[in-house]
Amino acid sequence: MAGSPQREPAVEESEPVRSDANVAGPMTEPVPGPRSEPADVSRETPPPMDATPVIEGPGDGSAPVGRAAQQAVEAMNRSGERLPRPERTRVMIVANQKGGVGKTTTTVNLAASLALHGARVLVVDLDPQGNASTALGIDHHSEVPSIYDVLVDSRPLADVVQPVPDVEGLFCAPATIDLAGAEIELVSLVARESRLQRAITGYEQPLDYVLIDCPPSLGLLTVNAMVAGNEVVIPIQCEYYALEGLGQLLRNVDLVKGHLNPQLHLSTIILTMYDGRTRLASQVAEEVRGHFHSEVLRTNIPRSVRISEAPSYGQTVLTYDPGSSGALSYLEAAREIALRDPAASGDGRHNSGMAEGTQ
Ligand code: ADP
Ligand code: MG
Repeated sequence: MAGSPQREPAVEESEPVRSDANVAGPMTEPVPGPRSEPADVSRETPPPMDATPVIEGPGDGSAPVGRAAQQAVEAMNRSGERLPRPERTRVMIVANQKGGVGKTTTTVNLAASLALHGARVLVVDLDPQGNASTALGIDHHSEVPSIYDVLVDSRPLADVVQPVPDVEGLFCAPATIDLAGAEIELVSLVARESRLQRAITGYEQPLDYVLIDCPPSLGLLTVNAMVAGNEVVIPIQCEYYALEGLGQLLRNVDLVKGHLNPQLHLSTIILTMYDGRTRLASQVAEEVRGHFHSEVLRTNIPRSVRISEAPSYGQTVLTYDPGSSGALSYLEAAREIALRDPAASGDGRHNSGMAEGTQ
């Protein structure tokens, strides 16, 4: 799979680096370098004009963006096989109480990737900023029925879920600014920690994955997410202080596991904004891989202008620029997640070492 020279995306590459360069190699070489890339060439060379993505069109999957993204996935799945669908809905909590580490970016792009791989996926936007809703092109002004109504007024989830334009099988429960008050309003409500869990359990549409985009805090909203799902996914930005605060996050996971949700475990760590040209990024990656083991995805997400541009067009990078290294690496990360057996991870090995090693 990784490193195969045959994997040619159907869409012209607009960045000089293939996602293969971001996939960790064998154990003797835990942190991959961008060997295919000359040191003095930016990985963010602007694309030629004819590679500019088409960002308009009907949102029925037959739009140019939808087709191009689909072609990119088909190029990856050369064998024509689709990824296995989970037997039961996998509810994944994308959390890190630090802001700006790539939670929202990872949530929406992994969700779109899983949907393009053939899964039915719901994104729950649990951040009052509503960035995930924006990135998915979902209206979330204050009048729109939202996850706030679900949590605070016990409205059925089905009332607020909207289909995502351009990506078949992808849905979003948007967040509005009302959600900012929910941390306080939830305090006095019955079953305040399990309201999201009830809503998801009561959702009758079939789903393969639910991805919950958490706010940058460890309050009641994040606790609701941790009660609603079993798998915690932590994006870690490959920067200095990357591990700071992780101990606190993991202690919270253990608290929720101990008191509210025995199934909860850290399932996945994903390294984001990886810049292979810097020693710092590879040092951080090495350190994370030293603390955690099988939880860390082999695929690193590169720092990519295309990834950061996509939300301003209400797009994921998968539809904004399907052939870019950012799109290909999220597709690869999604494939890794889909192929992982959730029951096999979460052995608790991370707990003590990590909690002690970081603050
Ligand atoms: P969080 O949800 O943790 O606050 P975001 O996903 O919103 O973090 O990311 C923070 C900022 O970094 C955003 O402006 C986003 O566009 C940018 N960003 C995230 N991932 C990447 C990446 N791989 N390459 C470049 N920019 C990125
Ligand atoms: Mg966010």
